[in-house]
Amino acid sequence: MSGVPETCPVCGEVVGVRNAVHVTVNTKADAGILDEYVCRSCYRAELAPLVA
Ligand SMILES: [Zn+2]
Repeated sequence: MSGVPETCPVCGEVVGVRNAVHVTVNTKADAGILDEYVCRSCYRAELAPLVA
């Protein structure tokens, strides 16, 4: 396995960067820009509908 492991913020699973999707979300909350690696299954379930 190569790449830096990242923790998916949705499900908490540790995923390699190569198996994750890098997302930047400009929220309207105080958090500002969210810069996260989300695993592919969570990306499909949670984020793909938002950006489609
Ligand atoms: Zn996940």
